[in-house]
Amino acid sequence: MSFFSTRGESCVTASQAILHGLAPDGGLYVPAMFPSVPMNRISSFCEMDYAARAVSILKRYLEDFNIPEIEEAVRAAYNTERFDTPEIAPVKQIDDATWVLELFHGPTLAFKDMALQLLPHLTRLAAVKNGEKREISILVATSGDTGKAALEGFRDVPGTSCTVFYPQEGVSDVQKLQMVTTGGNNTHVIAVKGNFDDAQTGVKELFSSPEFVKQMEERGKILSSANSINFGRLVPQIVYYFSAYADLVNKHAITPGDPVNFCVPTGNFGDILAGYYARNMGLPVNKLICASNRNNVLTDFFNSGTYSTHRTFFKTLSPSMDILVSSNLERLLYEAADRDGALIKRWMEQLKESGSYSIGEQRRDWMADVFWGDCADNKDTLKEIGKRFLEDHYLMDPHTAVGGHVLRQYRLKTNDATPTVLLSTASPYKFAADVLRGIAGADAAEGKDAFACSEELEKLTGVPMPAQVKALKDLPVRHTAECERDAMGEAVLKAFEL
Ligand SMILES: *Cc1c(COP(=O)(O)O)cnc(C)c1O
Repeated sequence: MSFFSTRGESCVTASQAILHGLAPDGGLYVPAMFPSVPMNRISSFCEMDYAARAVSILKRYLEDFNIPEIEEAVRAAYNTERFDTPEIAPVKQIDDATWVLELFHGPTLAFKDMALQLLPHLTRLAAVKNGEKREISILVATSGDTGKAALEGFRDVPGTSCTVFYPQEGVSDVQKLQMVTTGGNNTHVIAVKGNFDDAQTGVKELFSSPEFVKQMEERGKILSSANSINFGRLVPQIVYYFSAYADLVNKHAITPGDPVNFCVPTGNFGDILAGYYARNMGLPVNKLICASNRNNVLTDFFNSGTYSTHRTFFKTLSPSMDILVSSNLERLLYEAADRDGALIKRWMEQLKESGSYSIGEQRRDWMADVFWGDCADNKDTLKEIGKRFLEDHYLMDPHTAVGGHVLRQYRLKTNDATPTVLLSTASPYKFAADVLRGIAGADAAEGKDAFACSEELEKLTGVPMPAQVKALKDLPVRHTAECERDAMGEAVLKAFEL
């Protein structure tokens, strides 16, 4: 399988796509085609564990990896030492037509672990395949969860280092603590004075700065990305759509071939895009419901066909979705534009220069066939957390609750009764204060720190607090660096000198 850039002609292998992260022309790597998985194969997933399902999906894309390599990587990533349940990504029914796919059972309590536990293994293999002997220096911009997941994934992995930029005023207390207490001797964490888009744009600029690349090369390092633009992040995410489908069959909720909807709390469009890839591979997906918070740039895009960043950026209760430039959307645009790289390049230039682009009515309608977008504000989010706990005895984090609210809206507006899987992207304990407010009222978290809120939440709900949250309290802070938006390059170089 070859991989093309969304903005042009470059053609690389899977391992090269993973190693480079971003294509030289600034585009994202996309597979030359979508390998199809026939229904009888999907049915056979019912008998397999998560790791075996993963091997079956991954091998179709990672053609320059051999099967034993993929098997070893997958077994090293998806096991009960790293995940707190043997199911890895369990599916739970919460009402008549709704199942929650829990993607937060990994070491950092967010869905990013699903990909970032595997990516370091793929990166290391990719380096060997391409004769790369220099250190693979991972640079990451995080809206909160990617950072910690990347740090945990790459921590002490030989031949790699991992540097994370997070927006100083844009992550939750627990998210920040998780990052700044990270151990390992190849990890760096730097606060950027700005928001997530500043951090993400800054990292993208470093990747495309010949001067910075050269400075790193002089130090024996090559840059790579663990952000969701990397195909190595995307491909592990395709797995859990198939896995959830097989689990629904096992639970007799559907029979093989029945359509299913997926409702996905969305920020950078990586999670939901994997669902779209699964659909293109033959998974019977009816609608992909794209749930946004108040930063509803995607809702407007799916409705109007115009993507516009001329809007106020809001900090919300779902910080990992506080994003105005959803990078992975470019991969969907590429399909919508019939794989016309020149057109994508034009749209992306327009976005950079004027803050918007329009795809036209026809392409918008083409997208609307599969995608449905809506949004939830903070009030909707808290209400949804409360309602789900009260009515369905299910405790949701704010990101998942954005999805829960949007799913209700979708059903009200469309009357579609297709069984729907709601992707749950974080443990409620990662955002304990707001979850507590959702179930116990606006004042419930007053004067309490994240730990006190977690303890209160455990007492009120009986949902056990994850060991990782308990442990955070006693870990020393190891990373205190910060930098201005336009000094991220220097900050990286400085971090390596320490
Ligand atoms: C990253 C993240 C999201 C958004 O996922 P995208 O792939 O960026 O759309 C949603 N919820 C949580 C908890 C996350 O960490």
